[in-house]
Amino acid sequence: MNKLVLFSDFSFIHSQIRDEIFNDFKSVYDNNWFINGKSVSEFESKFALFSNSRFAVGVSNGLDAIFLALKALGIGKGDEVIVPSNTFIATVFAVLNVGAVPVFVEPDYFTYNIDPILIEGKITKKTKAIIPVHLYGQACDMEAILEIAKINNLFVIEDNAQGHGAFFNDKITGSFGEINATSFYPGKNIGALGDGGAVTTNNESYASFIKSLRNYGSNKKYHHDILGYNMRLDELQSAFLNTKIKYIHQWNNLRVEVANRYFNSLKDIPEIILPFCHDKATHVYHLFVIRTVRRDELLSYLISKNIQVLIHYPIPPHLQISLSFLNYRKGDFVIAEELCETSLSLPIWPGISSNEIDYVTTEIKNFFNGKK
Ligand SMILES: *Cc1c(COP(=O)(O)O)cnc(C)c1O
Repeated sequence: MNKLVLFSDFSFIHSQIRDEIFNDFKSVYDNNWFINGKSVSEFESKFALFSNSRFAVGVSNGLDAIFLALKALGIGKGDEVIVPSNTFIATVFAVLNVGAVPVFVEPDYFTYNIDPILIEGKITKKTKAIIPVHLYGQACDMEAILEIAKINNLFVIEDNAQGHGAFFNDKITGSFGEINATSFYPGKNIGALGDGGAVTTNNESYASFIKSLRNYGSNKKYHHDILGYNMRLDELQSAFLNTKIKYIHQWNNLRVEVANRYFNSLKDIPEIILPFCHDKATHVYHLFVIRTVRRDELLSYLISKNIQVLIHYPIPPHLQISLSFLNYRKGDFVIAEELCETSLSLPIWPGISSNEIDYVTTEIKNFFNGKK
């Protein structure tokens, strides 16, 4: 039996930083302070710098980061927010959780990112914001999106959960919108050892409002000026993130090398559509997603060869049971639906070996050559 090829694996990056992470734990432990302390503020400074933004505020997770960004912009009941029709459900739930209505816009057929050309047709008097998602790690066309937002007087909130360290026009993701949101879920390119998230902004009042909202509406202990939440990033996760953020560009480069090896090996298979990059965007390959009309067969075949592959995502948001009250049906967003039926994510992580990649691509070729 062939060796198992994992879809994702932390062993390489975590062995590289094991001693540093253990020291991070010791220093928080010995410091005797676990919430809203110096590790959080240190990480906020580092992440703001990384994101080319004046402020970063650490929060509990990516969903809450988008939610808090919407709250800070005063978006709620009666408002509409434009989101891609193909995204992880968190983008959509955050909009619903503030009481606003998500309005879906189809992605570009090749980049899988929200198609700026289709946005304007969805803008109404109620539209307040656009949430572009840098899906799979490729930066959205932020030039076009910012232009549409400006003309129509809309806020932009980047959902940068998958695009840490990607650029559009030499400008880093997380630096474009009024407020931007991200996640440090362990599997993201910058991942904590548990849940975590952040918002970034150049606006001081948004930053301080979100600091208060995340902490029971309080900037001064036992003074609760606004109705708030408990949506904090803790000291331990911040300490781990302070270490991990130092390696992000190095680890992203390893992901790009893996992607290039996949490109080289798979480029001559006509039945496969490979990831396509906008010429002004960079891609940090949070995921390496290929497409084929024979997706389900290929998936079973690769699983039978001990290669872990996954589908991102099998069901588009508009067809999720939780959203059935919005009354969408199959056929409403045909591109999102087609992506769900044809996409397959191949194993990718910093440290996957060339042998493992070659095993994956050899088996994909065997599948299409009928050698099964
Ligand atoms: C992971 C993810 C989120 C949510 O992050 P959590 O930290 O899991 O809440 C939001 N949007 C996208 C696109 C994601 O991939």
